[in-house]
Amino acid sequence: MALKRKYSKSVGDIIKIKSDFFEKNEEMLKLSAHQADALLLQPKRTKCKICHNPIGADAGQKVLYRSQRMSYFECPVCGHINSEYEDNEDFASRVYISDDYLANYSEDDRQKYETRRDTIYIPKARFLLDALAEDGLQKKDIKLLDDGAGSGYFVSAIRQLGVEQADGIEISEPQVQFANTMNGDDILTQVDAPDIASIIGTAKVNVISFIGVLEHITNLDDILDAVMKNKNVEYIYFSVPMFSMSCIFEAAHQTCYNRHAGGTHTHLFTEKSIAYMTKAIGFEEYATWKFGSDMMDLYRMICVCLDQNGNADLRERFGSRFLPMLDELQEVVDRHEDASEIHMIIKRKS
Ligand SMILES: [Zn+2]
Repeated sequence: MALKRKYSKSVGDIIKIKSDFFEKNEEMLKLSAHQADALLLQPKRTKCKICHNPIGADAGQKVLYRSQRMSYFECPVCGHINSEYEDNEDFASRVYISDDYLANYSEDDRQKYETRRDTIYIPKARFLLDALAEDGLQKKDIKLLDDGAGSGYFVSAIRQLGVEQADGIEISEPQVQFANTMNGDDILTQVDAPDIASIIGTAKVNVISFIGVLEHITNLDDILDAVMKNKNVEYIYFSVPMFSMSCIFEAAHQTCYNRHAGGTHTHLFTEKSIAYMTKAIGFEEYATWKFGSDMMDLYRMICVCLDQNGNADLRERFGSRFLPMLDELQEVVDRHEDASEIHMIIKRKS
């Protein structure tokens, strides 16, 4: 077990931000079904995404579980949870479609941007900076590259907390433009997918972050190899989706949107598979923060099912009784190591 493990955070503010999940169940479910269609077109996975051990029915394995038309296998070597079909380039080209971004942004957009950054990303950034400070790395000495930086929320948060040398790379040009406009500075650079491994392999940075990114990378081996070989990099900060309570809630509620397993999440991490990956690249766990959305997922699924059953009034009553318990219930899940997400800082072994 790690030296530093922290659990839980309040989800109160995040419920407002994620209200789409409650109101647009059918729409989200349809989107997820399209993404599943794209995965079902691909060849079957023959080896584990993390340790490359043979996997799947052809390797003589039993299905761990099925949800939304997809079977999942547990790797007997590293414990990683792999979907039956492979997340390859063709899959990525079908599911990662660039969102439409407006050319002109309003003051309202900036407000929303800053609220999202401050609510969701400042705590993630603070966790990293506190842990690095404890290890003797001060803000002025941090040089950070954020891979898959999206709209730049994490880079923006890190800079907001006083790290000057923090930049991000991102494939989507509209997202890069959006991020740079919102921040009034070129905090992100647009890069093409085939160039990312070499950028990471030669970056003059001591910290690399992947916030909600590793699970989406089709050539994960190349990216991890590049980090391993870049000896400037002392720390990696990542968050990934875990095989957790949310997966089981989803498997039990097939008329509800599957936020966690399925869609663009084609494989899920476990404590064991993270430990395997960390060791394989010559790093070790340094600090971990576990907090999930499992109970919020359960809450949403029960609400959606009540609506579907003509029990909208009961849903209201359920919400007023259940929401005040949400943080406490999730804290129990987190402490039992069953949370849907993990944030981990790993350090290069000396
Ligand atoms: Zn494996």
